[in-house]
Amino acid sequence: MRLIPLGTNGYFPSFGRQTMSILVLDGEMALLLDAGTGVGRLIEPRIREMLRSVARLDVMLSHYHLDHLIGLSYLGGVFPGPVRIYGPAPPLSDVSPEEALAVLGPPWFPKRLLDSRSVEVVAVSRKEWDLDRMPVRMRRQAHPGGSVGIRLGDRLAYCVDAAIDPGERDFLEGAEVLLHEVWLTDEEAAREPPERSGHSAAGPVAALAASAGVERLFPVHHHPKRNGPELEGLVRGMRREGITIELPREGAVLRLGKNPANA
Ligand SMILES: [Zn+2]
Ligand SMILES: [Zn+2]
Repeated sequence: MRLIPLGTNGYFPSFGRQTMSILVLDGEMALLLDAGTGVGRLIEPRIREMLRSVARLDVMLSHYHLDHLIGLSYLGGVFPGPVRIYGPAPPLSDVSPEEALAVLGPPWFPKRLLDSRSVEVVAVSRKEWDLDRMPVRMRRQAHPGGSVGIRLGDRLAYCVDAAIDPGERDFLEGAEVLLHEVWLTDEEAAREPPERSGHSAAGPVAALAASAGVERLFPVHHHPKRNGPELEGLVRGMRREGITIELPREGAVLRLGKNPANA
């Protein structure tokens, strides 16, 4: 399995970083976790080459805030093939993907995304299902309107736009890699408690990942006000025994698995 972070910011692009979108490649599977402005990177030749033989691009949305779905409005311009969008529906979210994605149409965009013949939308209301042969788990998180944590087998968990809650540790247990938002520093969290902001802070995320036995943690969904050195300092301060914590670089290829050369 390979991960290519296309966008790692929350809210809006800044300091050369785009908003959330992570490309996951595994055998035949090509999947975007969220579709923020990072989707625009699919036009970069090196990344386009990786998708050259892909028959269908899948997209899983964590929720419907614009920084996570605006890239769907130009996905057709950077990926010419068919797209299948999996979006959370009640009870995983307050609204269905058909309701939420109606925003991608007139008068805000010339064509209705939902009418496009190359786009299929799948409403997900079950917590456990399979994407081809990959077992997928989704779990509702504490965030305004609802967001879902996503888990792909034992390889990868993806949790953004959420305050940490007591059920999260079980959801993460045994995942090799975790992409988790770190929106707040611990000092900021002391001033604005995560339960109120709907977001997570650095120290508790590191402690959660270590206690769930995660091997590698990649902090994502960065606050746009932080420049590169500030982010690096924040991630250095998260260091814990027994877990690798790295700041993912947009456009880099991260190889997962015991035998990464073949992944
Ligand atoms: Zn967000
Ligand atoms: Zn959000």
